[in-house]
Amino acid sequence: MGELFPADAFPENVPAKRQVAEPPARHVRVMPFDGGGRAYTYAVPAEFSEKIALGSLVQIPLGSRSALGIVWETDVAPDASFAGRIRKISALRYDIPVLAPDAPKLCAWVAGYYAAPLNSVLLTMLPAAVRQGVRPVIERTISLAGTLDSDELEKLRRRARKQAELYDFLSERGNVPRGSLPFSAAVINALVASGIARECAKPVARLAYADIASVPAKRVELNAEQQAAADSVARSLDAGKFRAHLLHGVTGSGKTEVYIAAIRKVLAEGGSVIFLVPEVALTPQTTERLRSRLADCGTQIVVWHSNLSAGERFDAWMEMARGNARVLVGARSAIFAPLRNLRLIIVDEEHEPSFKQGETPFYHGRDVAVYRAHLIGAVCVLGSATPSLESFYNARTGKYVLNRILKRVDDRPFPPMRIIDMRREILHMQGQTTFSRAMFDAIAERLVGHEQSILFLNRRGYSRAVICPDCGNVISCPHCSGALTFHRENRILRCHLCDYTESAPSRCPACGSENIRKKGFGTQRAEEILAQRFPEARIVRLDADTMERKNEFRAVLERFREGKIDILLGTQMIAKGLDFPRVTLAGILDADLSLHVPDFRAAERTFQLLVQVAGRAGRGQLDGEVLVQTFTPSAPPVQFAKRAEFDEFLEDELERRREFRYPPERHLIRHIFRGIERERVESAIEAWAEFLEKNAPGLVEIRGPAPCPTEKIQDNFRFHLWYFCERVPAVIGTISRLRSAFPKCEGVVDLLDVDPTDVN
Ligand code: ADP
Ligand code: ZN
Ligand code: ZN
Repeated sequence: MGELFPADAFPENVPAKRQVAEPPARHVRVMPFDGGGRAYTYAVPAEFSEKIALGSLVQIPLGSRSALGIVWETDVAPDASFAGRIRKISALRYDIPVLAPDAPKLCAWVAGYYAAPLNSVLLTMLPAAVRQGVRPVIERTISLAGTLDSDELEKLRRRARKQAELYDFLSERGNVPRGSLPFSAAVINALVASGIARECAKPVARLAYADIASVPAKRVELNAEQQAAADSVARSLDAGKFRAHLLHGVTGSGKTEVYIAAIRKVLAEGGSVIFLVPEVALTPQTTERLRSRLADCGTQIVVWHSNLSAGERFDAWMEMARGNARVLVGARSAIFAPLRNLRLIIVDEEHEPSFKQGETPFYHGRDVAVYRAHLIGAVCVLGSATPSLESFYNARTGKYVLNRILKRVDDRPFPPMRIIDMRREILHMQGQTTFSRAMFDAIAERLVGHEQSILFLNRRGYSRAVICPDCGNVISCPHCSGALTFHRENRILRCHLCDYTESAPSRCPACGSENIRKKGFGTQRAEEILAQRFPEARIVRLDADTMERKNEFRAVLERFREGKIDILLGTQMIAKGLDFPRVTLAGILDADLSLHVPDFRAAERTFQLLVQVAGRAGRGQLDGEVLVQTFTPSAPPVQFAKRAEFDEFLEDELERRREFRYPPERHLIRHIFRGIERERVESAIEAWAEFLEKNAPGLVEIRGPAPCPTEKIQDNFRFHLWYFCERVPAVIGTISRLRSAFPKCEGVVDLLDVDPTDVN
């Protein structure tokens, strides 16, 4: 009957008998990875009907080829006119979904909000190995299925001597990996076939930092402020609804203990947790602490960041998808992880710009965290000693619950901050411009007392720029608008925007003068001066140049913790999170670096930096001290940081932003146009600005176009426009639609960065 009346010819004519015999096929929509961001309807073959769910990875026929994709929507009713022509899913790759059930909605939101192609978001969400559907590495083990009595064993010995030997071997060793058995496959197979032994297949989990032990640690008694914060989060967890908390706890106030209390509660109730950290370098430290404090919770704690090997990534992902791992510590992209029953998302150091991705999709990990929690009815805790203005504003307006810890653990005092006015000091610094006398004295004191120092300078390299005093020529990158930085080790000039290098000249390339000089200073130069001044000190420099080897950071911190290093000198990677009780001096060599930049967040960044670096000192029983070198001692962020006036700074800065109606008062969208030919880029952006104004008058407040502060990167000229708006979702759709309708300008590429953190 089926042959005579194919279902697609007369869909309503399918004989009743057949309907009874076979339940109607399930239909699902599948999003292929390499399609145009559209999902297609497929029928689910009965054989894996049970296993296919939202987030499953399947193979499908697509056009004339075969493709992989994700089950995006389940139990859809197929359009009647298509009914018989609907194709079938050809294979199911893993028997568990590889994405969480909320992933399709989350993906759609990220794509919409950040005006990014849905496909680019999907690719960001899933690790490559999973996307390619690789097979898990399976470990096969052999063990005995039961014991033989002596008669049976004797019989076996006579009948098959080798099998009996294998029996003896297994009864002695227990569970043995198949590959390591000193027996032939035939012998093993025979013993398994006879039911005496059994084979067990389990996917292998190669997990990063597996060597970080989970030595159980003592429970910490929370103090009153910590307890109040933990109780507040617990109440939100009990309510079982979405809630966002801002945990504003000063440095050394024990925020981590509050997170741990919340994590323990969620684990005890069968839920799982994502813990976002801003920096890859901080994951081992946080992982170690969580492993030891959660050792009794009976779950794996997995790590996620960009330095994992493909195998580690794959296994970590699958362990979460299987529900074996219920706590994930990771950088930005960990927010998309497939944890089952996700109930809590923690974003530590929520103010950090590194949560924002610097390429398409330009998503902000913290904001996606809040949205994901909202989507699934989970609790999100944003923690910081220096909250972003955005989060502070949300707490002020009641959108977030505000929890505060204003005292340090054990009532330890804040280290006093001394501001060194470099305008005056510079007259007394002989031959170098890096260290003031006070800074040298403070370091010397620490060396005598066997205490440790952390010195912070946010500039790599040896010197900032190479300048000719005779003609004023600054040697700059031929591909970017930026000065080249001198690196001493191999005597090269390097561009920190594009990594271009050339050998350092001994004469000015413009006028031939030999007086060419290096101006400013970087971490390399600072290290050299320190080594000259304190030959006996053990100094280690940590910056992007010394960090090229994997695990180097971890090794250095370990040595620092063991007291084998006296002075740690570095860029922003040492500014946050580190907790070393013997550090009593935190020095900031140039506080002005982040202050005088064309960024409306310059004051906020400077304040955060000063407070964070200061927070590294005096965390143990010893009192600490903070020294700040600056040419602008009266700048508000410096003054507020000196007086440890957190709220006062936030209020003052909020007021200033309000005046100019900058974020967080309104949202900002940055529209960048770039290309090799300057004129083309400029005329394209002008034409677009006019087009936007004409087709959507008053949609957003437009500023620009103007050249970007860093006008050229890698030979591309860059211009931008600023759009100010009250709500992004209210305008982004229109902007995206107009953008697709706008005629393409050859040789010009444009990018939309919603809620940008980088404004250069
Ligand atoms: P934050 O992240 O707020 O800077 P941490 O969570 O790193 O602070 O805590 C700082 C130090 O204080 C850690 O060594 C931690 O073990 C310790 N600590 C935290 N809470 C307590 C407490 N209630 N009692 C004793 N020590 C604590
Ligand atoms: Zn010159
Ligand atoms: Zn360059």
